[in-house]
Amino acid sequence: MSTAELALLGGAPVRTVPFPAYDVIGREEQDAVQSVLESGILSKYLGTWHPHFFGGPVVQEFERRWAAMFGAKHAMAVNSCTSGLYAAVGAAGAGPGDEVICTPYTMVASVTAALVFNAVPVFADIDPETFNLTAETIRSRITPRTKAIVVVHLFGQVADMDPIMELAREHNLVVIEDCAQAPWAEYKGRKAGTLGHMGVFSLNYHKHIHTGEGGVVVTNDDGLAERVQLIRNHAEAVVEPKGVDNIVNMIGFNFRLGEMEAAIGLCQLDKLDSLIRQRQSNVAYLERRIGSLPGLRPGPVANGAEHVYYVHPFLYDQSVTGLPRQVIVRALKAELPHATRREDEGTLIGPYYGKPIYLMPIFQKMIGYGDKQCPFKCPLYKGQADYSQGICPNAEAVMGGGVLFHELMRPGMTHQDLDDVATAFHKVFANLDALRVWHSQNP
Ligand SMILES: *Cc1c(COP(=O)(O)O)cnc(C)c1O
Repeated sequence: MSTAELALLGGAPVRTVPFPAYDVIGREEQDAVQSVLESGILSKYLGTWHPHFFGGPVVQEFERRWAAMFGAKHAMAVNSCTSGLYAAVGAAGAGPGDEVICTPYTMVASVTAALVFNAVPVFADIDPETFNLTAETIRSRITPRTKAIVVVHLFGQVADMDPIMELAREHNLVVIEDCAQAPWAEYKGRKAGTLGHMGVFSLNYHKHIHTGEGGVVVTNDDGLAERVQLIRNHAEAVVEPKGVDNIVNMIGFNFRLGEMEAAIGLCQLDKLDSLIRQRQSNVAYLERRIGSLPGLRPGPVANGAEHVYYVHPFLYDQSVTGLPRQVIVRALKAELPHATRREDEGTLIGPYYGKPIYLMPIFQKMIGYGDKQCPFKCPLYKGQADYSQGICPNAEAVMGGGVLFHELMRPGMTHQDLDDVATAFHKVFANLDALRVWHSQNP
């Protein structure tokens, strides 16, 4: 264990050579894109009721393969997870006057999906160890206006879905799983995304597998599948010729994925299982080395849930180290380099998401559509939106300093790379005295 001087205090860093890029695009993807280009058909969607309403051959093959692999009846490709969440909330029928229960600890699209349909997001608290919504926290937020719940499997760990689904059945609520960070994760032997009424995945380049940008919505419900397909592709122009009676939220969008992205997606599906296993084995390797530092505890994996590690989270206890999380993060970042292709983001260690979503300006000022505080103060809305500090104490504590995570366990990291990460953690935690002195002089 090194007690050399910390890089933050002027010593030599553990490492300066950049970490490898997360490189999952190879020869297969290049060939697949090449054949789409040679076919001359980069998309085949038509925004009318026609066989091409469902897109081109590669998009449809990608959807069939995704559905089969994940054990879902329907898979629908979209151009992002954000689009998929919008389509899912629209398909659920949420609208003005309705509430959608959301988590404050997520990427904003899990919440803006409700706003897009003029429904009001209501925030339930998270479990402080798994960072996910629970049936208990959701129950306390259900009102006669509740229409749907967006459950996010944060960081790659599946929420405890059985009690959530039971609660949803009791109250006739639609459950949408945001699986952007949890593709291929399992819960009691079933894939995340197939546990609720709809599951939404991301194919953005930050995620486990990607097509640059893209997403997928899965469901076992024929009616919801049709509604997602309509919202994806100009519903307003299609409902009449298709003979669709329920036109609620049938103002469509263009959320269509291209053939090249779908071709890449097919190759990525072949790699998914292996990429997930590598993440899990890198995390196990790291936790053997840095699993018991003072004040730092690996985020526990709950019973029945599987973790696929979009990031690798630790619970951080400031009362043990006497140092705010930000000091530890700064010290760690100073010891380690950035990753190739993500130079501008600095060392991939941090808390990232700044604060609970309800503390962001659109909620604090309640300004959504136009300048008349719609949907928060819409006359059709009979509830009272509450976004005050303190409504989700666990989320505020965790986001405010109780969690620390990193991405330095992605496939492509060798054992030598992981050893450097572990050395940096050990070096920082062996120098807490020096850090406390530094912190008292640099508050
Ligand atoms: C990345 C992410 C999204 C958005 O995905 P895009 O494909 O970039 O739109 C939504 N929810 C969560 C939890 C995410 O991590």
